Amino acid sequence: MLVSAAEMLKKAKAGHYAVGQFNINNLEWTKAILQTAQELNSPVILGVSEGAGKYMCGYKTVVGMVNGMLEEMKITVPVALHLDHGSYEHCYKCLDAGFSSIMFDGSHYPIEENVAKTTELVAAAHAKGVSIEAEVGAIGGEEDGVIGMGECADPDECKKIADLGVDFLAAGIGNIHGKYPANWKGLSFETLDAVQQKTGDMPLVLHGGTGIPADMIRKAISLGVAKINVNTECQLAFTAATREYIEAGKDQQGKGYDPRKVLAPGFEAIKATVKEKMELFGSVGKA
Ligand SMILES: [Zn+2]
Repeated sequence: MLVSAAEMLKKAKAGHYAVGQFNINNLEWTKAILQTAQELNSPVILGVSEGAGKYMCGYKTVVGMVNGMLEEMKITVPVALHLDHGSYEHCYKCLDAGFSSIMFDGSHYPIEENVAKTTELVAAAHAKGVSIEAEVGAIGGEEDGVIGMGECADPDECKKIADLGVDFLAAGIGNIHGKYPANWKGLSFETLDAVQQKTGDMPLVLHGGTGIPADMIRKAISLGVAKINVNTECQLAFTAATREYIEAGKDQQGKGYDPRKVLAPGFEAIKATVKEKMELFGSVGKA
């Protein structure tokens, strides 16, 4: 059964480790992540962006697939199904479809409007036992070919949003989505520390986990980060393994064209990436 992410992240923050959010795109992706979490006895959060939700034929399809897998794969570790960067409307769609966690990304609204919408969504989510993440300070990344360097959130605004009753909070600390540019200045630990001072026990979320050096990840966890989002890294690993299979001509040997064979190396590559991240984040054995 799906669980809210509130409890697992409270435990993570208190235990000084982080739970990975791994974004899913299809059945193979989901199966690979769930299987790895179960093998390593780790809690896990499955992330679904609005685009991925649409791709997988809507949120109800996603909920049906994930619930089916939890049962058929006999998954016993805590699993949350989480809307990633949700708009106001899509938060409601996911609450309706049976997600166990949502993120409301109101970072592009003026702070007053972010506060008003977050307040409303906190009540709606908690009425259903669903956890909710909010975001303060836009997290950079590639938009229209321009790579933003990653903003730093205002710690006072973080405190304001944290006090609305959200379960965990994403704050921009110089992190960005996608691949990091060569001239990236690194995470702002000053900002992270200031945000933690203001928000106390609130589990903090680090978006754009791909390509952040391991020592920075460890330091971020020591300063209160309890959830780390991983998306691009699984995509890169999956695609590289699939390319290798095709370029080696394996699809033309025997029944190598069978989609279950074509997708197998990518599946194993996602498993290896998820394992590596869970070990780095310290969530292994914490289920
Ligand atoms: Zn993000």
